[in-house]
Amino acid sequence: MIATLEAPTTAPACAYAQPATGVPAPSTEGFVHSVETCGTVDGPGVRYVLFLHGCPLRCQYCHNPDAQGKPSGATKTAEDAFADVLKYKSFIRKGGLTISGGEPLLQADFVHAMFRMAKENGLHTTLDTSGFVGHKASDELLDETDLVLLDIKSFSPMTHKMVTGVCVDQTLKFAKRLDARGNKVWIRFVLVPGLTDSEKNIDGLAEFVSTLGNVDRVEILPFHKMGEGKYRRSGLPYKLGNTPTPTDGEVQRARDIFARHGVETFV
Ligand code: SF4
Repeated sequence: MIATLEAPTTAPACAYAQPATGVPAPSTEGFVHSVETCGTVDGPGVRYVLFLHGCPLRCQYCHNPDAQGKPSGATKTAEDAFADVLKYKSFIRKGGLTISGGEPLLQADFVHAMFRMAKENGLHTTLDTSGFVGHKASDELLDETDLVLLDIKSFSPMTHKMVTGVCVDQTLKFAKRLDARGNKVWIRFVLVPGLTDSEKNIDGLAEFVSTLGNVDRVEILPFHKMGEGKYRRSGLPYKLGNTPTPTDGEVQRARDIFARHGVETFV
């Protein structure tokens, strides 16, 4: 007798953690935080950068503390948000569309709908993420993603927790998944004196990155206090008020550690 397989009648308990499948409709709504129409640092070329609201992390140096928490505020359909992107098509033809945040993967369906329309219009797509909820990115979404800017805030689990409030495991898992799929990645690492700059931390990160075959570029971002004013205005505590920006020598030291593992870096 040949056994027949029956579909389970109830979803497995971990179903919420599985990536969505299928293609979301253009009417999918997203919580948009803000827009930068001529961005030059979040991916190659001149880019339309869409910042989404909501982030589960609490990075001590976050520039957008007002984008943290659950996605909230005004919503837009992907169709409406993309109509605005199209107004700048001639400027971003050689760059593209970047979706950042906040954490864009909290609204993975919205990102997917946007990227699908971008690809249909011949635009390059970049996803800027901490990778903490990388499991929410479906393979179909990653197929529409030309580049992932993956922020690895720290390699040391303890430091990562201190800097962001969450553990680093999901980010590293997402990095390996992207490698296995062959998604092109730029790694970004913020160098914060006295916080993320220990030899052990940088060495661990450099060694990890050297094992990945899909990394096109590694950027070391020297810590700066551009976001401090936002904290003051919103009455939020800013923990890094006494932290200096790294000196040229400290940045070079970090670059040298990466170089020891054969990893070229950019600042
Ligand atoms: S991941 Fe980005 S948006 Fe979220 S808290 Fe960190 S710096 Fe801010």
